[in-house]
Amino acid sequence: MRKNTMLIHRGQYHDGTGSVSVPIYHSSTYKLKNLDTEPRYEYSRTGNPTREALEVMMAELEEGSRGFAFSSGMAAISSVFMIFKAGDHILVTKDVYGGTYRALKEVFEGFNLQVTYVDCTNLKEVEEAIQTNTRGIYIESPTNPLLKIVDLKKISLLAKENNLITIIDNTFMTPYLQKPLTLGMDIVIHSATKYIGGHSDVLGGIVIVKDETLSNRVYTVQKSIGAVLSPHDCWLLLRGLKTLGVRMDRQQENTEKLAQWLLTRQEVKRVHYPGFKDHPGHQICLDQAAGFGAVICFDLHQESLAYSMISKLKYITLGASLGGVESLISIPAKMSHSFMPPEEKQAVGITDGLIRLSVGIEDIEDLKEDLIASWQ
Ligand SMILES: *Cc1c(COP(=O)(O)O)cnc(C)c1O
Repeated sequence: MRKNTMLIHRGQYHDGTGSVSVPIYHSSTYKLKNLDTEPRYEYSRTGNPTREALEVMMAELEEGSRGFAFSSGMAAISSVFMIFKAGDHILVTKDVYGGTYRALKEVFEGFNLQVTYVDCTNLKEVEEAIQTNTRGIYIESPTNPLLKIVDLKKISLLAKENNLITIIDNTFMTPYLQKPLTLGMDIVIHSATKYIGGHSDVLGGIVIVKDETLSNRVYTVQKSIGAVLSPHDCWLLLRGLKTLGVRMDRQQENTEKLAQWLLTRQEVKRVHYPGFKDHPGHQICLDQAAGFGAVICFDLHQESLAYSMISKLKYITLGASLGGVESLISIPAKMSHSFMPPEEKQAVGITDGLIRLSVGIEDIEDLKEDLIASWQ
């Protein structure tokens, strides 16, 4: 089965009614036959048919053994960090999503989960940061917001040699474009709030695990901590998944055109886009993914123009998310990465005027006109 057909026909839950859309099971608890038979469903924190339909679907799309749906991307990410123990050490990619950085700094370091931030595009730096108590590597590729590309096969190999669990936040790519478990990674995470949902109307997080034993560790956290996704929100994600392919294709097409066009504009100083041949991760991205995604970042010559333009845009919306059908713009230094100390932002290259654009499915000429008018 090919990938667009999969999005429509895989992971369907059949309850015998013939319903084409997966039913929303709002039941919190289930009638048990007796105390001796293991029930399929018992209580919705530990299992719910609508959630299961989404979890099975995501596991099939990512080619993992099992999927888990959480109440947000951060709930998914935090639940994965909870498979580690106090005193464990993990390596985390330097320009990690701002919320992940905050969770590690403000919450997990308090439970003595030790973290070293490394540039995962530099394998030597990663290798040298491994300690005797290192248990995992946490990466993103492309990274947020600078769209650096990590070689997933190489990082997985290095991790295997050192017995480390590899975790990737695959939000920017989705399984439509990149399947990290097939490249050797152990755990994939999504903020389903972004492309999986695709319509900026639901928060959700997904974890997919390659191997059965590791799945059990994640399941233990999911049912113990209970940050599960509600049945209705699971259904919204199932609905979003059906159009993931067409949305991604169109968003990528617009992104490519917009990136090329930005290069020709005198206002623009620099454009970060892995689709450019001279992007350092271009070839790796070609080898490990089916596209370059639909997010770009750029700097203007005049930093102040970045601040004046955002309030003048008509169609492109200033907002803290990405991956929806509508184009969204943000200033990472002031928004998603505001928690990061200035020195660290500077070290990874997040300038104060850096603009992140999540490109939607609008007519490209309208997006261009909107940008031009905002620079006047
Ligand atoms: C948005 C986002 C998250 C957090 O997800 P929420 O659903 O907002 O909790 C994590 N990682 C990346 C890359 C994101 O873009």
